[in-house]
Amino acid sequence: MKKPSYIGRFAPTPSGFLHFGSLVAALASYLDARAAGGQWWVRMEDLDPPREVAGSPEAILDTLQRYGFEWDGPVVFQSQRHDAYAFTIQRLLSQGLAYACTCSRKQLEGFQGVYPGTCRNAGHGVEDAAIRLRVPELGYHFIDRVQGEYRQHLGHEVGDFVIRRRDGLYAYQLAVVLDDAWQGITDVVRGADLLDSTPRQLYLQELLGLSQPRYLHVPLIIQPDGHKLGKTYRSPPLAADQATELLLRALRALGQNAPASLANATPREVLDHGIAIWDASLIPHSRSLAEAQLR
Ligand code: GLU
Ligand code: ZN
Repeated sequence: MKKPSYIGRFAPTPSGFLHFGSLVAALASYLDARAAGGQWWVRMEDLDPPREVAGSPEAILDTLQRYGFEWDGPVVFQSQRHDAYAFTIQRLLSQGLAYACTCSRKQLEGFQGVYPGTCRNAGHGVEDAAIRLRVPELGYHFIDRVQGEYRQHLGHEVGDFVIRRRDGLYAYQLAVVLDDAWQGITDVVRGADLLDSTPRQLYLQELLGLSQPRYLHVPLIIQPDGHKLGKTYRSPPLAADQATELLLRALRALGQNAPASLANATPREVLDHGIAIWDASLIPHSRSLAEAQLR
């Protein structure tokens, strides 16, 4: 069988319910995939049971369905992928590319989130320790389809980063890279809050010999008071009876035409319209958008 030339995904974290910002990201990845005749997968990023809100995985899938989204294949749950993550961590440790870190949060205060390398050569055992990946003293850059060129120096701006937490939970950066590759994802379309995670992911892909997807980061939706519409801010969950209205607003946020004549259309009809007119070059070249201006 011919490998599809486009495989996209939406990868929500079940630490809450879908809100308008996640709808914008879901819609962009869905339309970009379908307009290209590609596949679109849903991956539940349930890596962090303590932060998971009970019932939210089911609620997220239910909302996607009510909003007319149809995905390919079974939903992938990261909680079912621990063997793959553990295997890779073992490999990175045995190659000396990763190491155990026993630094406390307190010890890392004052470094502005850039790990100072304290445990690099300490030879700590891995029990009860975090595992960090050594980063090279190199600048990384890539061309985002919307945000343009993005540069980051891994050594100066990030430092050796955690791939398994001290409590044994796997880190997002590792899981996302392994799963994007395992699922054959060709195009990552997501919120611009993850722009600065991308160089870490590019480095991991390079290290593990994985192919690199294209990236498109859509503007983050910001509340008037500057909060990003996200997990930490209590934004309203997407209401089932507002699907058409919110899909039209999300289309507008993405710079696409959302005619008033669709106000009484079904969510599915709005999505079909979106697929027909999708033009990623119209997405605002901006890291964020104010939610109030989209009403
Ligand atoms: N699970 C991440 C989030 O909800 C998104 C990961 C990704 O798209 O790479 O913010
Ligand atoms: Zn340390």
